[in-house]
Amino acid sequence: MNIVVTGGAGFIGANFVYYMLKQHPSDKIICYDKLTYAGNMATLEKAMTKENFKFIRGDIADRQQVYKMFETEKPDVIVNFAAESHVDRSIENPEIFLQTNIIGTSVLLDACRKYGIDRYHQVSTDEVYGDLPLDRPDLFFTETTPLHTSSPYSSSKAGADLLVQAYHRTYKIPVTISRCSNNYGPYHFPEKLIPLMIINALAGKKLPVYGDGLNVRDWLFVKDHCAAIDLILQKGKVGEVYNIGGHNERANIDVVKTILRELGKGEESIEFVTDRKGHDRRYAIDPTKIREQLGWEPTTRFEDGIKETVQWYLDNRGWWENIISGDYQNYYESMYGSR
Ligand code: NAD
Repeated sequence: MNIVVTGGAGFIGANFVYYMLKQHPSDKIICYDKLTYAGNMATLEKAMTKENFKFIRGDIADRQQVYKMFETEKPDVIVNFAAESHVDRSIENPEIFLQTNIIGTSVLLDACRKYGIDRYHQVSTDEVYGDLPLDRPDLFFTETTPLHTSSPYSSSKAGADLLVQAYHRTYKIPVTISRCSNNYGPYHFPEKLIPLMIINALAGKKLPVYGDGLNVRDWLFVKDHCAAIDLILQKGKVGEVYNIGGHNERANIDVVKTILRELGKGEESIEFVTDRKGHDRRYAIDPTKIREQLGWEPTTRFEDGIKETVQWYLDNRGWWENIISGDYQNYYESMYGSR
């Protein structure tokens, strides 16, 4: 099978590329990525040595490039990770979020209509459901929870999900959608909470925590997310949405304290800063459907996943030091030319 992974040079997409290369060595994995600030060829270095892997630099919102990619690669499956993904950036500048996340998704779907596809999978987020109150621990997001977004990021992801469902109903495109909780693990871009805290702690800098630090996120180790998507591709029912989460809710401040403990550092570097505008209080996924219908269970406990993640950042200083120094922007051209 030819599997196109859009956004495969980013955090989760790259983990998925490695997961698929390992689990399905007879499939061809094609990464199609624009290489925005969040995409990084250094992340794909080990994949580039594999015969059954190919990288194409391209924008999902560029119709000509996408159609050309469909003509040359003849994908059987598209897994769309490509997105602008940072909530803070969406608050500063929403437009590119609409362009990539909504227009980009519609271009991919049009290509599926034009050329045919066995499966289009949309990687979505629990943020499309909005947030839950902190004082109702009995409430969780299910697949039938109404979409109720807070940020330009989550609104653009919800818009994309609705388009995917519309293309299924109107044009019979064989689609599935997954909505996952917050991921963590190797190759996570340094602007996100967990890597930011690890890197700042290593550099002896302050650890900025929004508001009172009590906002709750439901954390999942990235490899468990990848395994869930693979399972949905194999066994998921066309037209369905699957929530993915491991019932692992933590207040942000507790996550930061866990990281500091792992690094053997004290808590004096924590600094509470002005809260994010419209900051969602609590996300919590009910993963009953994927567990009961497809047999998926997360396999990594948070304590083990955080240990592995902290160790990865200690072992791969070069990877994140390049990013934070901006050097990686020149990396692609010098390493791979226009490939
Ligand atoms: P990321 O920002 O690390 O990576 C995004 C990738 O998409 C980058 O490689 C970037 O170059 C690429 N990209 C951006 N615009 C593009 C375009 N127009 N055309 C082609 N490529 C483009 O994001 P991530 O954290 O890996 O998230 C991947 C997907 O998973 C996103 O769709 C996100 O909404 C979703 N998601 C993320 C989380 C999380 O915790 N990070 C949780 C649930 C869902």
